Parts: sequence; structure tokens; C-alpha cells
Amino acid sequence: MLTTRPTGTNDFLPGESEKWQYIEQLCRQVCAEYGYKEIRLPIFEHTEVYLRSVGETSDIVEKEMYSFEDKGFRHMTLRPEGTAGTVRAFLENKLYADPQPTKLYYMGPMFRYDKPQAGRYRQFNQFGIEVFGADHAGIDAEVITLAVEIFRRLGLTGLSVKINTVGCADCRPKHMEELKTYFRQYEDKLCDTCRDRLERNPLRILDCKEDGCKEVCKGAPTTIEAACDNCSTHFNKLLEYLDAVGISYEIDTNLVRGLDYYVRTAFEVVINSVGSAQNALCGGGRYNGMVEQFGGDDMPGIGYAMGMERLLLTLKEQGIELPVSKHPEVYIAPLGEAAQKEAFVLTQALRGKGIYTEKDYLGKSLKAQMKAADRFQVAYTVIIGDSELEKGIAVVREMATGEQHEVALSQLVEDLEGRLK
Ligand SMILES: [Zn+2]
Ligand SMILES: [Zn+2]
Repeated sequence: MLTTRPTGTNDFLPGESEKWQYIEQLCRQVCAEYGYKEIRLPIFEHTEVYLRSVGETSDIVEKEMYSFEDKGFRHMTLRPEGTAGTVRAFLENKLYADPQPTKLYYMGPMFRYDKPQAGRYRQFNQFGIEVFGADHAGIDAEVITLAVEIFRRLGLTGLSVKINTVGCADCRPKHMEELKTYFRQYEDKLCDTCRDRLERNPLRILDCKEDGCKEVCKGAPTTIEAACDNCSTHFNKLLEYLDAVGISYEIDTNLVRGLDYYVRTAFEVVINSVGSAQNALCGGGRYNGMVEQFGGDDMPGIGYAMGMERLLLTLKEQGIELPVSKHPEVYIAPLGEAAQKEAFVLTQALRGKGIYTEKDYLGKSLKAQMKAADRFQVAYTVIIGDSELEKGIAVVREMATGEQHEVALSQLVEDLEGRLK
């Protein structure tokens, strides 16, 4: 166990971690342009935060929460998603008293005690945004546009936006009854999970992936048919806004998302992977009642979350190389103890000018050091031996051409700065 990581967790090693940094930086950049500010939340909350928000009929609460009792016998849960904690913080810190809307983003690890399987992790990472205090369909369009913008800047292709309206407190109860009546006729054709869902939450049968259930769903009364006037107007306005900025979408009446708290807008951005089913890169929706459920005033909310692991896998599948710099520009190769110290001073001076510099610390031979410089793929290697040191010079070798020239040690930083420009 001492050298084995827990099931469902990952080590992201150098080579991989640069990609994470690049994507995180891009998310921050896009959020800055859209006016979303970062909120940094605890990784665990009181369990009731998730019981209240995620919904007691969702899979997360039923099977997947990573819960524990702390030493004070309090029930705690490692966060399975970011929305609930954000709502809790919004209320606790009275962000509702600021001018609205409140536009926030978060990123970091989430936890679900899932059965181990390919691509599902117990610790996984999400980036997400949440907006409070705006009910206008234009903000739904902004949230979707931001999601698409991040994927677009990464160079992803084959994306499509799936969108649906899932109803509200006015129109959902009637729709639920219609769905129950409809599905009861086909009870024997539904999978076990859906038979279990039938009386409690028939809406979720609509996004079951089992073939039998999918077939039955084809004739089910849709959320769009069941939508009240307010929901219809909101949905149509959202589609108009997306049209206006050229975001293409598909209306998917089976898209209801796993969580009970969505009202009106639900959306996913999916990627059409080669030879396999569509995979959702991100998903979200409107959750107008949640702030109230936490004891706050009636306050609209909307957000989405994106899985970082899935995104990285998709970038790999599409052969997209992120522009992450990997190689030092200069390698300093000292020979002998006196030269080691001079090399150390020069290394610091070059780094002070923003030049990525490496040096030998193992007292290797010149041959071994040149090999190291090759492996680092540096542009220049600086060789300093005893005789160079005596003359107050160093030999600078341009690795691409093999050309060498001597430079006074006092001029070395300036010389390399000029060459690297
Ligand atoms: Zn409605
Ligand atoms: Zn099913």
C-alpha cells in the first residue's frame, strides 16, 4: 500500500501537469474577459449541504457521496460537485447584497465514491461557473457561449451544443404525471433502474442509456410540449440569442441532466468521438429554486461544470498539442569545482533575466554534459573549464549548428540575451 495510490485517484506527472496548467490558465483568461471572478471553496462541507441541493433521488446522494464522520462526530462529505458549496458560500458571505448578477468560477478536485471503471475516478477535477441574480435568457446564452469559447480556443472540433428546457414548478408536476401515465404502459420494457424511477422521478427515465428505455422514450410526452408559457418564452429567447452569435445547437428533448434541481434551461456540450458514442464535455443548467432551498430569498441561478480529465482525453484523441514550453533555453556545463561555482552564479543571472537555464550538479564529464544538453534540447550550451575560467571566458555552443565562440564571462548574460531574442 505504501507505494500504491488509492483506487480511483491519479498522479499527474511532469509532462502532463503542464497541460493542466495551460487549460487552467485558459479558463482563467476567458473568465476574466467575461467578468467571472474566482471563488475558492472548501473541499468538504457539512453533508446536509449536498442532501439539500443535489436532491435525494439523484445517484450522487444515493450511492456516490464520499462521506465521513469527523472527530467531533459531525457528518462531512467531500464535495461531489461545485454548485452546492457555491450556493452555501453565496448565502453565508451575503454576496446577494452586492450588485447583481454575481458571476463566479471555481476549479479543483471533486469526489465521488464510484465503482472503478475506465474514465471514472473517485477524485476528479472540474472547472465550473455559477451566476446568481439574473433570470434573463441572455445570461443562459452567456454561460453556454463561455463554455463553447473555451473549447474553441483549445482547437477542438466536432462539438455540438445540446439544449433543452426541463420545465419549472408550474409545468413540471403536470408533466411528471403525464410521464408516469405514459411509462406505466411500458413498465415491463424499462430497465430495473428506470422501473424504480417511475414513481419517484420519471423525468430521469428520459436520459437512460439502455436501448429498451430509449425505445420507450421515443413516444413519451416531451418537456417542450409540457412547457408553460414562461418556460417556452425563456427557451425561445435563449435560442434567438444563440442564433444571434452564431452558436449552433441541437434541441434534445431527452436531455434532463442527472440532478433534480434544474429548471428551464439544461445543456451539454458533446463531442463526436471517432467510432464511439457522443461524450459530454460539460453540462449545466438553471437552478432557480436552489438559493431558496438553502434558506435564502428567491434568487435565480445558472451554471455549468466541465470535467477536466475528459477534456484532456479529448485533446489527446484529436491530436491537439497544447503550446506548453518544455525545454530550457540554456545549459551550463562546468568542468571542475571552481567552474561549478561560477556556473551557479551565471545560472542565477540568466534566470534573473527570465531565461530558462539548467546546469549540471552531478560533476559529469563534458561528454555526459553535452548529452544532457541534447536531451534538454537547449538552444545554447555554455562550457566553462579551468582554462576558460583562468582567461575569464566561456565557450558558447549553438546546438543547432555546432558553431562555437568565446565570450567574456562579464558579457555572457548580455550575449545570450541577444542571441535568444
Ligand atoms: Zn414552466
Ligand atoms: Zn432505463
